[in-house]
Amino acid sequence: MKLDELVAVLDAPIPGVSRALLDLPHLVCVLLDRNLCVLAANGSPDDPARPVPARGRWLSDMYSTSHIHPVLAQLAESPQAVTLPGRDGAHGLVGHFFSTPQGILFLGELDDPVKQSVLADISRLNDELIRLNRRYRQSRDELALANRRVTELSLTDPLTGLKNRRAIEPLLRREAALVSRHGMDCSLIMMDLDHFKRINDDFGHQTGDDVLTAVGKMIREQMRVEDTCCRWGGEEFMMLLPHAAVTQAKACARRIQAALSDLHIRAMNRALTASFGISQLLGEEDIEAAVRRSDQALYAAKHAGRNRVWIHMPDKTNGGA
Ligand code: GH3
Ligand code: MG
Ligand code: MG
Repeated sequence: MKLDELVAVLDAPIPGVSRALLDLPHLVCVLLDRNLCVLAANGSPDDPARPVPARGRWLSDMYSTSHIHPVLAQLAESPQAVTLPGRDGAHGLVGHFFSTPQGILFLGELDDPVKQSVLADISRLNDELIRLNRRYRQSRDELALANRRVTELSLTDPLTGLKNRRAIEPLLRREAALVSRHGMDCSLIMMDLDHFKRINDDFGHQTGDDVLTAVGKMIREQMRVEDTCCRWGGEEFMMLLPHAAVTQAKACARRIQAALSDLHIRAMNRALTASFGISQLLGEEDIEAAVRRSDQALYAAKHAGRNRVWIHMPDKTNGGA
């Protein structure tokens, strides 16, 4: 058997073994028959890195093998490395036996203490690398988490926990695109608490904050899951209602209006009211125009005396309710 045949053996399905092993500088590959006679090898007796008896010679020509003969069957496939002490002061080999259909395959390397210390260093470095890699992955995950948190915070109003204006803008654009492409209904409600400044003035800023928090929570409870509410600014809230025409938006505003009058805030004995401006998104206009129209309706509601729901009708003047 020649080296080519050894290559063929290595290509056979021996777990973890492939012909690439033949090229590893210090790896000794020897194919032996049952009597440990060399059938093929990737080294030669004169190769200082891979000293192996010539083809047709016994492994025992260069290495002491008497200890392995009786237990060869168990040694093949054993996870335990086997040492073959070298004869005449030569370095031994250390490695593993595998049984293959073509014979017994020995894979090993020089049993060289110097080289072994290099191997130990490599193994230590490898461990260190694994550790660093693990730490790197952990830091990377922590960073990704922190980044997610930063993004989340940049899109959330800290007082009410609602989305902020920056967060709702892309949603508005997406809904506007759906309206324009598929003619779906979608409405906006702009809500502004009435005379909120007086609450701050009469009960203090903290109570004002409590009111805003409670109002945010109440609005969330009054809306469908597909609706979005954001704190548009100060004491102003904007609601985006996909698949809702103005009539449904008006019903929603009415629910919020009723719930607002039932809201009790500790340390404040005053009923809350708000004004609402509604607009339905039109396919042909941009989102800024739709927001402007709901603002106009809100302004009209304030002007008409507050605590009312006003709808912007694009083809008429503002319609109140
Ligand atoms: P209107 O009915 O016309 O809307 O009157 P208003 O008093 O509600 O409106 P105005 O714009 O005069 O005052 C809004 C007040 O909201 C003024 C501002 O100090 C207060 N405000 C804005 N943001 C906050 C906040 O985060 N916390 C508190 N406590 N007050 C806020
Ligand atoms: Mg107000
Ligand atoms: Mg306001």
